[in-house]
Amino acid sequence: MKRAACLLMISLAFMSGCTERDRMYRESRVLMDTFCTITVAGSSEEKARKAINSGFAEIEKLDGLLNYFSEDSEITAVNRAAGIRPVRVSRETLDIVKKAVHISEITGGAFDPTIAPVVSLWKFSKDVSAPSVPPEDAVADALRYVDYRKIKINTAASEIYLAEKGMALDLGGIAKGYAADRAVEAVKAEGIKAALVAVAGDIRGFGLNPSGQGWRLGIQDPRPAAVSERPWEDVFATLELRDKAISTSGDYQRFFIKDGRRYFHILDPGTGFPADTDLISVTVIAPEGYVTDSLATAVFVLGVEKGMKLLESMGIDGILVCAGKKILLTENLRGKVNILNTAYQAVNYSP
Ligand code: AMP
Ligand code: MG
Repeated sequence: MKRAACLLMISLAFMSGCTERDRMYRESRVLMDTFCTITVAGSSEEKARKAINSGFAEIEKLDGLLNYFSEDSEITAVNRAAGIRPVRVSRETLDIVKKAVHISEITGGAFDPTIAPVVSLWKFSKDVSAPSVPPEDAVADALRYVDYRKIKINTAASEIYLAEKGMALDLGGIAKGYAADRAVEAVKAEGIKAALVAVAGDIRGFGLNPSGQGWRLGIQDPRPAAVSERPWEDVFATLELRDKAISTSGDYQRFFIKDGRRYFHILDPGTGFPADTDLISVTVIAPEGYVTDSLATAVFVLGVEKGMKLLESMGIDGILVCAGKKILLTENLRGKVNILNTAYQAVNYSP
């Protein structure tokens, strides 16, 4: 398992459109190399199960198209043809790559889906028994192929071309949020009025309860006091999600410690090394999952000042946690986050 869910669904009450006879139906499957859970509210089990199946079918389809490690995914085909020729892809692959390039542009390249050659030098997987820091010259060499501006997209022909041999796409920082978006659409299309789709820590919900409550979610403690079997259940704060998506990126999700230093899976495309900021966890809340997923990664790379500025300028909510367990909230979120763990303290951010 690449990454455990870092946002926990705490409780689900009745939701909008739910009658008293409505019940909650939930199912988890392993897809996109992680746990995916779909919860829907409905009065008929048959209808709910059908909707859940449609949601999972959508995630499975995207997994097949976008998986970096799969021999026959479209992303692998694009990567193999780098510097050689454009590759015709499906509507979905074209759409997510366009969105990834857009996020790269608005984050000034802090998010960059061409980071793959550098990612493959780092071994953050739990299966690696002795992870090591790659040599600096190998990182510098791989960095030469990292540049989202060299992704050429031909919309009319539905083609993607990586302009240089050695380039490769890794959509690991956006695909889960995108999958949550698509699964939500699939569930809605089945006539469901309220549901929550969680692709690991990238979650999108819709529907509210009759008294105006949304889905209550918890954010995983990035520095828990004790090692737990189920770390995602150790939350430091909770909040309510109303018709929005939420994603968390943290330095505790995939990492190793070497010579007293923590190395983790969020890489700075400027250096090829793990993002070196004061941040340990970034949560982003916005209408769409592809935005929250990619911006959580990007804000982590940008650091507190630039990250807060970007979120505020876009009117997007964020919860940034610094190494000293200080929490910074975007303005709109103040008073809406319930901090459970007193070791964490909300401080007002002033630019
Ligand atoms: P997330 O867990 O959503 O923060 O995404 C991290 C994953 O995205 C990593 O495992 C890499 O596959 C990829 N990634 C790492 N750094 C970046 C970056 N700066 N821009 C885009 N993708 C990245
Ligand atoms: Mg992300």
